[in-house]
Amino acid sequence: MLNKVQYMDKYVWSIGLSLLYGFLLPVFVSAHQVIRHELHVVLQPDYHTLQVTDSVTLPETLPPSGAEPRYFALHAGLSPLPLTSGVQLVRQPTEALATPGNSHASAPGSHLPLEHYAVMLPVGTRTFALRYQGAIQHASPQQSPQDAWSMPETSGMLATEGVYLSGATYWYPRFDDEMMTFTLDVQVPLTWEVISQGERTRHERVNDATHIRWEAPAVQEDVYLVGGPLTEYRQPAGPVQAMVFLRTPDAPLAQKYLDATAQYLQLYNALLGPYPYPKFALVEHSWESGYGMPSFTLLGSKVIRLPFIVSSSYPHEILHNWWGNGVFVDVQQGNWCEGLTAYLADHLLQEQRGSAVAYRRATLQRYTDYVAVHSEIPLTAFRARHSAVTAAIGYGKALMLFHMLRQQMGDNAFISALQAFYRDNLFQRADFDALRHTFARMTGEDMSEVFQQWGTRPGAPELRISAVTVQPDGQDYRLNAALDQVQPGPAYRLPVPLAVSLRGQEQAWQTTVTMAEKRLEFTLRLPAQPWRVDVDPEFDLFRRLHREEIPPALTQLFGANKVLLLLPAAAAVEIKQGYRQLAQAWPQASSQDLEIRRDQEIEVLPTDRAVWLFGWENRFLPEVTMALTSYGVGLTQEGVRLEGTLLTREQHAVVLTVRHPRNPQQTLAWVAAQNVAAVPGLGRKLPHYSTYSFLGFAGDEPVNIVKGQWPVLASPMSVLLTPATGGPPQEPATQLTPRHPLISLP
Ligand SMILES: [Zn+2]
Repeated sequence: MLNKVQYMDKYVWSIGLSLLYGFLLPVFVSAHQVIRHELHVVLQPDYHTLQVTDSVTLPETLPPSGAEPRYFALHAGLSPLPLTSGVQLVRQPTEALATPGNSHASAPGSHLPLEHYAVMLPVGTRTFALRYQGAIQHASPQQSPQDAWSMPETSGMLATEGVYLSGATYWYPRFDDEMMTFTLDVQVPLTWEVISQGERTRHERVNDATHIRWEAPAVQEDVYLVGGPLTEYRQPAGPVQAMVFLRTPDAPLAQKYLDATAQYLQLYNALLGPYPYPKFALVEHSWESGYGMPSFTLLGSKVIRLPFIVSSSYPHEILHNWWGNGVFVDVQQGNWCEGLTAYLADHLLQEQRGSAVAYRRATLQRYTDYVAVHSEIPLTAFRARHSAVTAAIGYGKALMLFHMLRQQMGDNAFISALQAFYRDNLFQRADFDALRHTFARMTGEDMSEVFQQWGTRPGAPELRISAVTVQPDGQDYRLNAALDQVQPGPAYRLPVPLAVSLRGQEQAWQTTVTMAEKRLEFTLRLPAQPWRVDVDPEFDLFRRLHREEIPPALTQLFGANKVLLLLPAAAAVEIKQGYRQLAQAWPQASSQDLEIRRDQEIEVLPTDRAVWLFGWENRFLPEVTMALTSYGVGLTQEGVRLEGTLLTREQHAVVLTVRHPRNPQQTLAWVAAQNVAAVPGLGRKLPHYSTYSFLGFAGDEPVNIVKGQWPVLASPMSVLLTPATGGPPQEPATQLTPRHPLISLP
């Protein structure tokens, strides 16, 4: 259901709620103060009920009690009672909570019913116990196709298939946005396992029940309680316990993850500093998800069985224990941790495979195609992924910021700064400013301009090169050119990498010119005759790409403002119906204007919008066939051969994108599947393959068997120089200086 191209991940889904929740109540316990919970829980999944005793210890730093009540919120219907003598508990009327910014008594952003209480403690008392019980029963989320770019969420569930309780469930008293330490003793049915943060210090089967204790002495933002009927596997990974909990026993699968846990912990220990928890657990979840919690991850059943997850999403979730679940995010100032995690997991793995340039280009492609100029937000306004737009900013732009910092500082200084940031901020909330401080301290440079232009300024620079001329100068050559930043608004300070191909030399001549104004005219003195100049050839700068730097791809359809979709009137009824359902199921930008018509109703393809063409029978298919010739691809009514694989009309689903023949700014995408059974799956999968130009699928699932991007034929960032001798240069592609990954896999 999910796949590697765009894997869902969201590690802090409750933080946004808790921040908003801070406005609900008079604040007596602030985020910097640490509350202790000692929770004893009995779960009765058959009845959706829990029974809890919580011994709460408030921070010492609070003023002496007796005068001021403390306020907390709890999931409705749990009827808490104080167990400590002298402690009074008073339920607050719902109306009293109607303050500006809060007109309802449910958790912000959800329909979770909450109850609010005031607790009065005797003078000198900081610790008090509560007992409460009741049902927690919310629908487990079903991910709809419209949500392909967001995560399913739930307020919490407790049922025979499993338990999922978090801070967002309010299953323990929450005073404010406080941090906490806790112990958690849980009694569950015999066949159950439960997982929380920290270390498991008890695991016993007694009579008809399993008793499990988790201890989290390190400061946390939440208390998670997840589990169900699970089979446990474990092995030591150095000082850390690697654990896997599966819903269906599968020892070889568990072993794969246990080994991967050890490998990636070793990698990130070496890169960043020691892993901050005593265990790391993979927990198979009862619905498809990709959650990273402190010291464990929850992945759906389908996801964990996809063969590539163990070396793509899995290391990303492990790395979140440094970024997000080790150093916490002060999201009010922007969520920096997704970009840093993407850079040091997804990007690093691509570097190790030699594919970092393609990865960065795809990252910039998503930004360029999905983020319209009017929907740009600054990085400091990113909280969590809700859409392709927010993902392109919060993951894409942020990871490019870290890439640019690394280019500026060099690998060693970059790594030292990351280690210092981790060391100094572990178990605390940090913001972009904390990052800037660390990077400034480590480099001795003032980093405010860098963080201002990429962090607080929305948007991206756009580059053009022009006026390239070459003159012989004695033994040498002089190359003159101009670079322009054509984005609206002021100039960015940009170190622009250049690669010049020289006659008779395999290695490109490389340099960097720094732009401080919107125009830079520069001269390069070269040891041989240049025949080609490439601007930012390895996509090292965060920038909006020129349309011609990006091959035609599905991003241009999914990201377009205005889209026409043409169904084949000549196709069989059931095929047409399948296509129509597919079209209606796709995620669209909320602003996308999508018009669905039959191909017969249109005489000529419009040139002012992106166009989906569906079906082998589509009367505009010849337009696609013609455009394909520039890539040397022949499409017939029987099929098409892509990268050596023959895709046939009868057996495969085919997706091809081309430039609009009469407007290269627009993209046409042709989608055809004679097998109606494959169409719903195609609808789910295509958004995850959005950066590709062509795709082939087989079977009903359908399974992807071919994917790729067309070559970029005429990038305006590559200037070919006509030699004085006349005739086009016949030179092989030149080599750029090889780069090394930030760190290699152990
Ligand atoms: Zn993430």
